[in-house]
Amino acid sequence: MHIKELVLDNFKSFGRKTRIPFYEDFTTVSGPNGSGKSNIIDAVLFALGLARTSGIRAEKLTDLIYNPGHHDDDVETGEEREASVEVILDNADGTLSRSQVVTAAGTENVGDVDEISIKRRVKETDDNYYSYYYINGRSVNLSDIQDLLAQAGVTPEGYNVVMQGDVTEIINMTAGARREIIDEIAGVAEFDQKKESAFEE
Ligand code: ATP
Ligand code: MG
Repeated sequence: MHIKELVLDNFKSFGRKTRIPFYEDFTTVSGPNGSGKSNIIDAVLFALGLARTSGIRAEKLTDLIYNPGHHDDDVETGEEREASVEVILDNADGTLSRSQVVTAAGTENVGDVDEISIKRRVKETDDNYYSYYYINGRSVNLSDIQDLLAQAGVTPEGYNVVMQGDVTEIINMTAGARREIIDEIAGVAEFDQKKESAFEE
């Protein structure tokens, strides 16, 4: 399974609907400082529900909506603002084939299709904001997306994304803290937790 395409609409610096293709093995994005490379990673984390707002460099969810006056803190008011990100997954290899998604309409098997779309929208009204998640166009909860992605080993606690600055942080860590990360990646941490809860019983 791999990301096939990202569709950003009004997300961060992407004021226009932008489609970004991803290749199966390796994709590089290059560009000058501040051109939006990291915003692309933020978009993936946002849509897949993998990071807190601070993890995608925003104070609040609505900061993720494109703001033409970003540099002047000049936020438009009075009208509804909205951003969305769609992550299109190529599931032709059937990684997620056993996945069941619980939707309002009941339980559905998304694995029968080669392409899975995960989408998130954030909408700001005069006095509130809303966040919605979708799988293949159906409205779902964040937990449905997390259950689906967990089958591919993609979890909010996992080290699926190495963020800018992470490498330096890992180098500067204590040996113990670094060991915890390796245990997490190797899948040992899960067994440590199970062992501990077994001892408690
Ligand atoms: P670097 O090479 O320095 O890491 P980068 O290509 O990763 O740069 P990003 O951090 O992705 O750059 O993009 C930062 C830009 O995104 C800044 O110019 C910032 O003003 C802009 N930006 C962030 N949020 C918004 C928003 N809501 N509306 C408009 N622009 C935004
Ligand atoms: Mg960057």
